[in-house]
Order: sequence, then C-alpha cells, then structure tokens
Amino acid sequence: MIARLRLFAPLVLMASWPFVNFANFNAADVVNFAVVLTYGLIFNAVMVVAALGAMAILRRQPAARVVNTLAVAGFVFFTFGAVNSLIQEVFDLGRFRYALALWGLIWIAVTGLAWHLSTARHSTTILSLAAGAAVLVPAFELAQHFAQRQEAGPPPTVTASAAGAAKANVYFVVFDEYGRADQLLDAFGFDVKPFQDALRSQGFKIVARSNANIPMTHLSLTTTLAMDYAVPVGPGALDGFYGYKLRLRGNNEVVRRFRALGYRYVHAQPGRWEGSRCGGGEDLCIKGATPHAFNETEIALLRMTPLLPVAWKLFPNSLKYGRIQFPDVVARLKDFPAPPYFLYAHLLQPHDLQFAADCSPYPNPRGLTLRDHPWGTVTEAGKPAYVATITCVNRQILKGVEAIVRADPEAIIVLQADHGFALDDTFTKPLADWNETEFNRRFGVFNAMRLPPRCRSALHETLSLVNTFRVVLACLEGRQADLLPDRSYVSKYNNPDILPLAKFPKNPRSR
Ligand SMILES: [Zn+2]
Repeated sequence: MIARLRLFAPLVLMASWPFVNFANFNAADVVNFAVVLTYGLIFNAVMVVAALGAMAILRRQPAARVVNTLAVAGFVFFTFGAVNSLIQEVFDLGRFRYALALWGLIWIAVTGLAWHLSTARHSTTILSLAAGAAVLVPAFELAQHFAQRQEAGPPPTVTASAAGAAKANVYFVVFDEYGRADQLLDAFGFDVKPFQDALRSQGFKIVARSNANIPMTHLSLTTTLAMDYAVPVGPGALDGFYGYKLRLRGNNEVVRRFRALGYRYVHAQPGRWEGSRCGGGEDLCIKGATPHAFNETEIALLRMTPLLPVAWKLFPNSLKYGRIQFPDVVARLKDFPAPPYFLYAHLLQPHDLQFAADCSPYPNPRGLTLRDHPWGTVTEAGKPAYVATITCVNRQILKGVEAIVRADPEAIIVLQADHGFALDDTFTKPLADWNETEFNRRFGVFNAMRLPPRCRSALHETLSLVNTFRVVLACLEGRQADLLPDRSYVSKYNNPDILPLAKFPKNPRSR
C-alpha cells in the first residue's frame, strides 16, 4: 500500500499542480473555485487510470518509469498556454500552429528525458519532492487568501421609514466600458449627442462629467453596490480582498436596502463573465440562452492546454459565450415579480465588441473579441468596432427604454458604465504614470438617470458612481441625499495596489 502511494505520489502531485497554481494565480480575480476543483479531480482520475493502463501494457518496464514519465507528460500538457503566450508576445506569431509545433517539440523532449532519467535510483523520490514543493507553495498562498478573505460586512441598519414613499420600480443597467460622451468625441470623433437628447426626452438627466471611482469592473461595481468606498486602498491592498465576490452576485448593501423597503430583486447575469452571475438570492435570474457554453473558468483552464486550438477547430459554437443584451432583459419584463422590484443587469456591451452599427454581428476574424489586450484596451483594429458596438447599444437602449416607460411610466432607470475605455499602453504603464487624458478616458463613464423631477437636483455634474444609490434611495425615501465626496483611485489588472489619485505626480488635478 505504502509502495503504491509512493509510486503514484509524483503523478498525483504533478497532475494537481496546474489546478492549484491556476486557482492561486486567479484568487484575487473572480474565478469559480468549484469548477477548478472539479476539473482537477477529473484530470487526476484520468491520469491514474492512464497510468494503470500503461503499466499493464508496458509490463516489462519498471512501474516507476511508466508512472513518472506519464506524470511529466501530463504536466507538460498544461504548459501550452505559456508557450502560446511566448510565441504570440515575444515572436508576434498569432497562429496556433507555431505554438503547437514548439509545444510539441518541448513535450517530446521533456517526456523523452523523463523516460530516460526515471530508471535512475531515487528518481521517484526526487520527482515527488520537487512536485510536492511546486504544489505546496501555491497551495499555501491560496490557503492564506481564504484565511484573509473579507466577506461583505453585515447589513446596515435601515432606519428610514418607507411610509408614504413612492415605490417606483428601479432598473439599474450597467453597460460595461461605455465611455463618457466628451471622451468618445475626443478619442474617436464619435458624437452621441442625438442619442442623449433622445434619452432626455424620455425623462433622463445625463450626468455629463461622471467618473468611476475605480477603473476596474469588479471594484467599480463593488463601490456602486456598497454605496461606499468599500475597496481597501494602499500598496498591496487587493491581496486577499474578496469583498466584491458576493456583492456582485447580489449580496450587497443596495439590494439589502431595497429588500428593507419591500422590493423584490431581479438579477440579470451577463453571460461569459462569471463575476456577476446570479448568486441565488434573487427572485428572478435572467440568464443567456446558451446553457451548454463553456464558462470563463473552463475557457481559462482550456487555454493552458493544446486542447484549446483543437476545440476551436472542432466545436467553434460551443466556445461561444452565452451573453445577454439589453433587449433580452426587456423581453423578460413580463416575467418580473410583482412590483415594486429592483433590477440589476450587468451587460458586457460595449466591452465585448459584438456588433456592427445596425446590430448585425461584427465581422470578427479572430473569434471572441477584436481587442488583443486582455484588459479591455481598445486597439487600433478595435476602434471602429467599439464605435459600432456603442451605436448598436444606443439603438437597443432607446428601444428598450421606450418599452419600459410605456409599461411603467413611473420607472426609475439608471443606465451606467462601470468604467470608460483605455487606449494604447495605459494598462501596461505604472499607475503613477497615467496622465490626465488617460484618466479621463478610463474613468469617464456614461451615466444617465431617470428620476422623478423632484429628485433630479441631487445629480450634480461630476457625480461619481459611488453616489448612484445614495441619490436613488434618498429619492424613494423622500429625503435629502447624503452624498459622499467624489473620489477616484487608480488600479490595474494583475496588480494588488490601489492608489489615491492625489499620488499622481503627472496629473495636473492633484497639483
Ligand atoms: Zn468593466
């Protein structure tokens, strides 16, 4: 028994490493740990069965040699993603075939070497120790992440009386990465004034110089849904910060306040991105129409392996994400619970460049997105697609708003972005090097609010997103809004630091 354990130890450790490391690497981001665990267990099971099969076939070979070689071969299987990035980033070769060729050579060389070396004495022990260390380090870091995990705090005590307050339905729709009108005009020569005028005629007020408080999706939405600066600030502040996870899935201060006022809760999940998926506490969950599509965690896992290009070839349709759009939400109005209700919909348009201006699919040779940059930087090729997608989204908004207002004339509607856009190398620069233009592009957000006329005076021109529901709830409760100062903090992806804007030496605002 002990001998068996010893024999299989390197295999299990090396088959676990890709998953433990992946979970740890993505711990600060939104990732579905249950999916990672499931695939980790499946892969381990497959490897053990393969090892038993190989031992039966290669009976003349020492068992350790067969198992150890297989362990190494399985490990190298997960290095395809790294090889692919190297090929794409260093050698600027976008086609999978180069990465596949290089990865294939590496796989053959390393597996061959393992076969050759694993007859040496103590090879199993050495491999076990090395693999054990490789698993323990990320496992320990991951355990620390969980130990420091900061869940969303206890619900605030709601003392405001709802007596006499008008209980209008509230529709909160986030259009991911929809930049502010002045910035769209400046960067793309794209004029959205006719669209905004049409919104005004439907009772909206446009917050013309609205800013995000933090320029990243999950942290910006956290701030809005907490109605407070709930994200920690400082160097390394994001290490171990998980307070956004539950909030984005409906367990947040805004929803609790609406619940306390007697509202029901409708959550529309974007599809493709798991961060804003339905958390289970909602009265109605609006989901995309493609339930069998891979989720983002699965795609990220797949990306590590040479199965990605194979899957692209074999099942291009299964890899397409199940996104929803504004019309999908509007089409479900009839299924909404009895009023009053609060809708929260996070939509990935225009972040994901899906449409031509007439809302037909954008001709997209590379599949998912025209952005080469993983953090939503609009590339040169992406510029016309970004403008086209917003043109389509504007049409969808006007049509959807008309339908909502027709059915629900008292509707309070908030249409917002979580952050603006970035061009060029903004996200590869150190935070302190962002200049004012880059700040305005990324922080400037589309923000249109349809409130009863008596509440509109609370919407000052530079109202930032943190104050959104301080205005809406005060309006519903018939009191003065207690607004927070509008502050912005810089942050970027794969970096745990959050800095107050005042730390910008190059930003004229802070001088
Ligand atoms: Zn976003």
